[in-house]
Amino acid sequence: MTHVERVPARPARYAEWPSWADPRVVERFQALGIERPWAHQALAANLLHEHRHVVLATGTASGKSLGYLLPLLTDLIDDVSADTTATRAPRRATALYLAPTKALAADQARRIRELRLPIAPAACLDGDTTPEERRWIRDYGVFALSNPDMVHYALLPDHRRWSPFLRRLRYVVIDECHAYRGVLGSHVAAVLRRLRRICAHYGADPVFALASATTADPETTAARLTGLPVRAVTEDGSPHGRVMFALWEPPLTERRGEGGAPTRRSAIAEAAGLLADLVRDEVRTVAFVRSRRGAELVSLIARQQLGQTSAEAWGDNTQKVAITAHGHPETRTMAEAGIAPESGIASKSKLGSGTGTGIGAETEHETEAGNGARIGAQTAPVLHSRIAAYRAGYLREDRRALEADLLSGRLLGVAATNALELGVDLSGLDAVLLVGYPGTRSSVWQQAGRAGRSGRDALAVLIARDDPLDTYLVHHPEALFGKSVESTVLNPNNPYVLWSHLCAAAAELPLAEQDLDLFGPTAPALAAELGQAGWLRARPGGWYWTRPERAADLTDLRGSGGTPVRIVEAETGRLLGQVDAAAAHTTVHQGAVYLHQGANYVVDSLDLDGAIAVVHGEEPGYTTHARDVSQLRITTEERTETWGAHIRLAFGAVEVTNQVVGYLRRDAATGSVLDEEPLDLPSRTLATKAVWWTISPGALAHAELAAPDIPGAAHAAEHAAIGLLPLFAECDRWDIGGLSTACHVDTGLPTVFVHDGLPGGGGFAERGYEQARAWLSATRAAIAACECPVGCPSCVQSPKCGNGNQPLDKTGAIRLLGVLLDEL
Ligand SMILES: [Zn+2]
Ligand SMILES: [Zn+2]
Repeated sequence: MTHVERVPARPARYAEWPSWADPRVVERFQALGIERPWAHQALAANLLHEHRHVVLATGTASGKSLGYLLPLLTDLIDDVSADTTATRAPRRATALYLAPTKALAADQARRIRELRLPIAPAACLDGDTTPEERRWIRDYGVFALSNPDMVHYALLPDHRRWSPFLRRLRYVVIDECHAYRGVLGSHVAAVLRRLRRICAHYGADPVFALASATTADPETTAARLTGLPVRAVTEDGSPHGRVMFALWEPPLTERRGEGGAPTRRSAIAEAAGLLADLVRDEVRTVAFVRSRRGAELVSLIARQQLGQTSAEAWGDNTQKVAITAHGHPETRTMAEAGIAPESGIASKSKLGSGTGTGIGAETEHETEAGNGARIGAQTAPVLHSRIAAYRAGYLREDRRALEADLLSGRLLGVAATNALELGVDLSGLDAVLLVGYPGTRSSVWQQAGRAGRSGRDALAVLIARDDPLDTYLVHHPEALFGKSVESTVLNPNNPYVLWSHLCAAAAELPLAEQDLDLFGPTAPALAAELGQAGWLRARPGGWYWTRPERAADLTDLRGSGGTPVRIVEAETGRLLGQVDAAAAHTTVHQGAVYLHQGANYVVDSLDLDGAIAVVHGEEPGYTTHARDVSQLRITTEERTETWGAHIRLAFGAVEVTNQVVGYLRRDAATGSVLDEEPLDLPSRTLATKAVWWTISPGALAHAELAAPDIPGAAHAAEHAAIGLLPLFAECDRWDIGGLSTACHVDTGLPTVFVHDGLPGGGGFAERGYEQARAWLSATRAAIAACECPVGCPSCVQSPKCGNGNQPLDKTGAIRLLGVLLDEL
């Protein structure tokens, strides 16, 4: 345990119900036990009532929805005079609610229906809505719950038929708006501008209510997303008990990974041990795990540690758990958890003694059971059956059953993916384990905020995974508990996203010059380009869409460009899944081992033209790692800064050309390299944005970095910088890439680049440029904090390195970054 933070209790701050609120709405909320609103709910409600756009960025379970539902339902509720029994009562106003997932919208609809107000029933508009239901919403609905994809594909292209609904649109609610970041954020920003234009066409001027997790700058994010001035409400008035928040770093083990680097005990194994210990003490706990497979593993290992016999554990789970459906689950799952089957008992005893409780091995349990069944007698059903796994893909009935079991205490431990954040209403927890940093600080607080039933004290533990960001965080608690520097990044002006939305907008209504302002400063030039290329046609009334295809089909909000590659099982013809075009070369090349729902497949062939990878099920005993060569050319420098005499920092447009040239096969158990196979794949070019810095030769000499040291030092600094950027921009290290060189052709100097991974850029590199000092300081600190001798996954090794993590110079990187930071 590297740190314990005691987060003090927060008392409730209440306000009065606003005088304008409809008494029938207030009464229904009171009937649900809400006597008075909390201060932030009342503030947001009042602002929305005055037609001011609002983003509510307060904690989990702070009742954000009441803040917008109060004015919205007040405006939507039927006049007393109207016939409230008919579904065809005249509509005064309508509201559109948008959520990032269908499940969330469905949940919200259910809750609104449960209020039993005299309004037409809240209705979901998604891919499953029948044409009859759609017609009903258009003509009679008052509250439609949908998602941005549906607005893009269905509602806007068909706006003439939707005009009865749109004409009266008074509220647009954007729930979980922090989900719209990066390229998805750019798409949603364009969709919302299209929606605003169509509403204006019908004389409607809706007010926007956004709900967000707590982030550094919700006001700016919301304004970028909607293109409107938005007022943030961030002072949380809901009460919370004290939280003891521990940071936990798994120990280094004797095992060796790539290049002989020491590896840590896995976060999965540590989490399973903690979960078992907490459940043993009857502490209601949820462990949040980033992958589905990880969630299943944590549950499985914890159950085993609580004394279930192996046969039961595996037998039970072959039916329930996808990961054990193929191959030899014992060997594979235990190996992945970082504990060999035979060493499992030793690890358990170690954890047991480490936390001062615990029975450890199975034999001990049998003894205890034989001595009077202490466990069985105290708790029925037996402990191990009181732990479950939960992940996306479970049915709604299963989710409800799980909620009920946790609430009643029948279930004591759940290992879950963050699907639980969106789909399940959880209360009544005492402890939360975060297995790996969930990617953003807001997710940390969203997950940790689940603990603390009815104001009682709670425990949260963040268990670090073996990567630079997690390592940094458990050694720098101020980055988690101090003032946030991370903000949601999105770029509404990305031309690679915007062009298709300009086409879609022109198809909806001709685009006049004044309309283009709505789509930002890059829009006029982009429209002219589209005209030249034959996508749009200039006529006196503006730009027109005259092509036969549907303009809205030009883009998929969730896609990353290019046709996704489908993965098909040779024997059965079954479609297993798909990968983005951008990732296909590295993940499903011929010979690649592809992991799907816990089972391994080997790729027989990759057909790039047909966008199909054919695979067969096999447990080959090795993993594959693509090797690639990249070149980067600077297209334009957009922003630059010099630090002292020796350092130059820049941001701009770049072209990255990448070719996958082969792959390494590594022993699945030891990670040692078996051999290397060449591949013949075409190179691909990505036009995107990058941040880069150069260092003068004089400064390098001063730091005693000789020419041969520079490639390894720059490469190691690049890896760690990529690892740490998510602390400043809400991105995943997989959303960004990098390149380092001892002498770059465009700069003539040693240069390190970190670039966005998608066409046009997602805004991440730019955020790195803006936060460069803090970002690079954290990068150096992360490397320096790691106790390994020459570099490991916790500091400078990267799992996505296309060069097999060669060369890497850990101490050189610390000195190199030192030169940079000394010039501040
Ligand atoms: Zn290390
Ligand atoms: Zn690398």
